[in-house]
Amino acid sequence: MTVDPTKPYDDQNIFAKILRGEIPNNTVYEDAYALAFHDINPQADLHILVIPKGPYVSWDDFSEKASDEEIAGFVRAVGKVARDKGMVVRGYRWLSNVGRNAGQEVAHLHVHLFGGGPLGPMLSK
Ligand code: 5GP
Repeated sequence: MTVDPTKPYDDQNIFAKILRGEIPNNTVYEDAYALAFHDINPQADLHILVIPKGPYVSWDDFSEKASDEEIAGFVRAVGKVARDKGMVVRGYRWLSNVGRNAGQEVAHLHVHLFGGGPLGPMLSK
């Protein structure tokens, strides 16, 4: 079922459990603002998820309610992960699904980082 981004945050979502250490993950990077780990079902040669530490349902929720410090910290972390994983030189894609039309499945903001090889067209119809 896809996420309704207008609903309040539910701390039983899978990424909240990962943040609390209740479910294992393959961590790439962690700081005060963000956790980055490999996607369990990669859609590219390199597919990393970056999530904020705070309780935000989606990019919409985060951009409206997060503090400037959280936003700056998170954006810097996403950039650092891509840089540190060597994704900048060859190019990469940043994507964040919000709600039904985008097919968002997990109700905790996550940025997908895709790289490691050519990614094809941005969208297919
Ligand atoms: P969405 O469709 O919400 O934008 O993306 C959710 C992503 O989370 C999917 O790419 C899916 O493979 C990934 N995912 C779902 N459950 C887990 C999990 O338990 N661990 C990890 N590492 N990734 C997960």
